[in-house]
Amino acid sequence: MAIDIDYFLKIVASITADEKVPVVDLIAVQSRDPFKVLVATILSARTKDETTAVAAARLFKKAPTVDALAKLSLNTLEKLIYPVGFYKNKAGFLHALPEALKRFENRVPDSMNDLLSLPGVGRKTANLVLCTAFQKQAICVDTHVHRIMNIWQYVDTTTPEQTEHALRAKLPKNHWLSVNSLLVAFGQSICRPVGPRCDICALEPQCPQYGVTPRKLPMQKVTNQDRQRFISWNVNGLRALEKKGFVDIVGDLNADILAIQETKAQPDQLSDALKNIDGYTSYFNWAQKKGYSGVAVYTKKEPLQVTKGFGHEEFDNEGRVLTLEFPTYYFINIYFPNSGAELKRLTYKLEFNEALHAYLRQLNTNKTLIICGDYNVAHKEIDLKNPKTNVKNAGFTPEERAWMDHFIDSGFLDTFRMFNTEGGNYTWWSYRFNARAKNVGWRIDYFCVDQASQERVLDADILSEIMGSDHCPVSLDFRS
Ligand code: SF4
Repeated sequence: MAIDIDYFLKIVASITADEKVPVVDLIAVQSRDPFKVLVATILSARTKDETTAVAAARLFKKAPTVDALAKLSLNTLEKLIYPVGFYKNKAGFLHALPEALKRFENRVPDSMNDLLSLPGVGRKTANLVLCTAFQKQAICVDTHVHRIMNIWQYVDTTTPEQTEHALRAKLPKNHWLSVNSLLVAFGQSICRPVGPRCDICALEPQCPQYGVTPRKLPMQKVTNQDRQRFISWNVNGLRALEKKGFVDIVGDLNADILAIQETKAQPDQLSDALKNIDGYTSYFNWAQKKGYSGVAVYTKKEPLQVTKGFGHEEFDNEGRVLTLEFPTYYFINIYFPNSGAELKRLTYKLEFNEALHAYLRQLNTNKTLIICGDYNVAHKEIDLKNPKTNVKNAGFTPEERAWMDHFIDSGFLDTFRMFNTEGGNYTWWSYRFNARAKNVGWRIDYFCVDQASQERVLDADILSEIMGSDHCPVSLDFRS
């Protein structure tokens, strides 16, 4: 199946947003000088960016212009650019460069043919100079671009030059300038030449992975003692569920930690049976408004600390967040707002999401994050039965989905999708139209963890057989 290149490059851009800018792009932006871009590009071939940056800075101190470069001896050049790869050859190219540039009035030319006439300049270097120094419509094809475009089966080529020509024929022009730096950063960080990190790659569900052997994660020996089972469930009213046997269900689920959303109750409205379930300690956060929102956590293990809310009064008065701190992780139970009828609460929800995201990122500087709850958004089209007819409805608006993209791209994993990439897996069904029996549902309940903790995720599932609410529970098995 052909990939959607716009979507793929958009995802790559968001994944690599925090990666360092390639040194040649940096020099282009900082100096806006084609001479420096050309010299840095020559230095950068087969050399790490850090090494190129240091060598270029040393060289430009002595030779910021063509005239100054002409005054340096070959020996001095070798010393200045050492230890870039093939420094002797490159020093020779740079030594010959001023003479070659005389034909162009000591200026770097801006056409492919003229650039190719310069010492040490091949197609890749010429294209990179055209893109970065002159903003011309050129496609630089680094080995990463060649490799990844073939993995994606966007092209079917055997050499970078063939890839360049194939891309010229089919890649939309708006990607020409940026595709090289994007795929270089992506190829160095995620889609590595050896052992690409498909297990954490957001493109994995759609990627053809042509000719790829993904990295193997080290097998972890997990004993029952290490393995913890977490369950999250929007119960749509804890008191109502009590009448349907909630306490017995908790015993059957046998979770180490059970997170509940939409309790719709303040603690003084709850029975002792609900507050003191055998084997568990319970914690509650509730809304000021009675019968609305609210979350709870039942845990077998005592937490070090429990925090209600996340420090924003305008959100905390709806009792939507409980954070339990354990020695090696934070467990965060969240009931995200619903955008509501006619999307009246969309703005509130997006503001909540942003503030919460900032809170999570700040927590994650410390320990693993396990973030569960009713996110009130179906992330992708496969996460609901009828995507086309719901694009303007709460829970599937472009704005809510964009936030979820942004959240995942910022370094979190949707654990269910680590094990199951099929559609038809839902966690919520309307009470109307016999929707649950027909499996006309939405997947809006999630367990997410930070990417760094991915290897601790042992399993994730949807427990659709558990009845009692319009949501079913979701689970995460985690190495403690
Ligand atoms: S899924 Fe794997 S092969 Fe495909 S782009 Fe991601 S890392 Fe590369």
